[in-house]
Amino acid sequence: MEKLQKYIIGANASIFQKIDPDSNVKVFVPENEEEIKAAIAFARENNLPITSKGGGSGMSGACTGASRKKVIISSMRMKKVLEINFDEGYAVVEAGITPDELNAEIQQRKPNWKFFVAPSSRDIATVGGILSTDGGGNDAWLAGTMADNVLEVELFDYHGNKIIVTKIDNDNKKAKITCSSKELQEKLQKNNFSIIDIAGAHGTLGYISKLKLLIKPLSEYNNQRFALAYAGNLNALGKIIYELIEANIPLTYGEAIVEAHHPEISRKTNPPMLILEFPLDFQEKVQTICKSIPDVNFNSVNKEEFEQKKEIRIKMAKRNPPEGYQLALFEGYGIAGDNLLRFEEIITKINQTLESCGFEPFIKFGHAPSVYHHGDKKVKGIIMHSREKRPEKLTSKMVFEGIVALVELCEKEGIIPKPEHKWPFSKTTQKHKRLTELTTILGKNFNPFILDSTLKELAELVL
Ligand SMILES: Cc1cc2nc3c(=O)[nH]c(=O)nc-3n(C[C@H](O)[C@H](O)[C@H](O)COP(=O)(O)OP(=O)(O)OC[C@H]3O[C@@H](n4cnc5c(N)ncnc54)[C@H](O)[C@@H]3O)c2cc1C
Repeated sequence: MEKLQKYIIGANASIFQKIDPDSNVKVFVPENEEEIKAAIAFARENNLPITSKGGGSGMSGACTGASRKKVIISSMRMKKVLEINFDEGYAVVEAGITPDELNAEIQQRKPNWKFFVAPSSRDIATVGGILSTDGGGNDAWLAGTMADNVLEVELFDYHGNKIIVTKIDNDNKKAKITCSSKELQEKLQKNNFSIIDIAGAHGTLGYISKLKLLIKPLSEYNNQRFALAYAGNLNALGKIIYELIEANIPLTYGEAIVEAHHPEISRKTNPPMLILEFPLDFQEKVQTICKSIPDVNFNSVNKEEFEQKKEIRIKMAKRNPPEGYQLALFEGYGIAGDNLLRFEEIITKINQTLESCGFEPFIKFGHAPSVYHHGDKKVKGIIMHSREKRPEKLTSKMVFEGIVALVELCEKEGIIPKPEHKWPFSKTTQKHKRLTELTTILGKNFNPFILDSTLKELAELVL
């Protein structure tokens, strides 16, 4: 059983699959605080690093800890809802629950209330994992990313200290720290440790055990309208997104299908196109924006047609080509500002780069308009996911060269890779510097490969 666990625990959604099961020295699946502390103590006594594992749905392989010897702590059994407070608008949950599981519990009691972070993987991703990658979903435009929806986090560092980080401002940059070690508490407080540090930290700071999450009633707008905006070319699509951002339209749903080289998807959706939901009061404005852009065809649709398109879009992440399989070589492209006005050029360059490295573009889609954190800035744009056809003979060299070429392209073109995807290349970024400082205070032994791995090490993990 223990041997099987060492194999199974390496399973994850990324292309980094070749994990040596023997490198998972011991796998812990704690159910409570004592068991978490015992797992951490085992790692400490054996001088092993720790990798925390949620649902394994991250696309960067960060939950694998690579093939270095380590202890894995899974949140698979940490799924309890500890409190739901509708008066004050929060839920306290264990780190292993998924948004779908939490929302089912919330809506059993109040059907019109919700936890508002909904990545397409909301049925498998855990709230601990989503915070660690600062995930967002199709409602991030209005609700923000995970960092904006977490009020308090409880985590354990490598020394077994329990640290509670309580948000005290709306920018997520200030927090009150409560810790069993007063010395550590002072150090972290002095260093302005906050929720924005934990967001996107990829498990480098400690094991997240509990979160206090913001919950709210469903849209205050109950008279919603639905539309599909078809763009004759990619620049027109970029321009619609740009103008919707400029006009700050409170879209309750905004998703783009950028391209789809799958006859069934393209026949049913005719990309490039946007799937939109907005309050009735904004119908005229949205329509005027779309109609003012050449080559855009605006269609009001009924809820049924909207839901059909939405369903196709959500399933795209899991859809394979008619023959073979899809893979995400590098999936999170943040495209914002003037780059939206030269969208065609950007997509062409991404595709040329993919092709020059032996990958055939398959589908591109994304939350749009949306927001994401870049350093301590909030950026508005599209978070575009890209899936390629998996070459029949995929080698680690191809992946290595593909990722390097795409990162270089992103840097040159001002495309912001989603934090999740940029960690292996981020040694010069503000986030890397900040995490390095914080890990020095917190024991340095949670997922250290995130901060010091090389691309070569990663490339060797590709199956
Ligand atoms: C089909 C599909 C669709 C997706 N759609 C979206 C989307 O719309 N938006 C989006 O943002 N992402 C999306 N993703 C990416 C993915 O779902 C997110 O990265 C997710 O947030 C990861 O959560 P997880 O529980 O699966 O974490 P894992 O993959 O298990 O881990 C991710 C990282 O979090 C750390 N971690 C996990 N649990 C803990 C913990 N308890 N304490 C400390 N660190 C921890 C791990 O060490 C690792 O570094 C999608 C993925 C797939 C496969």
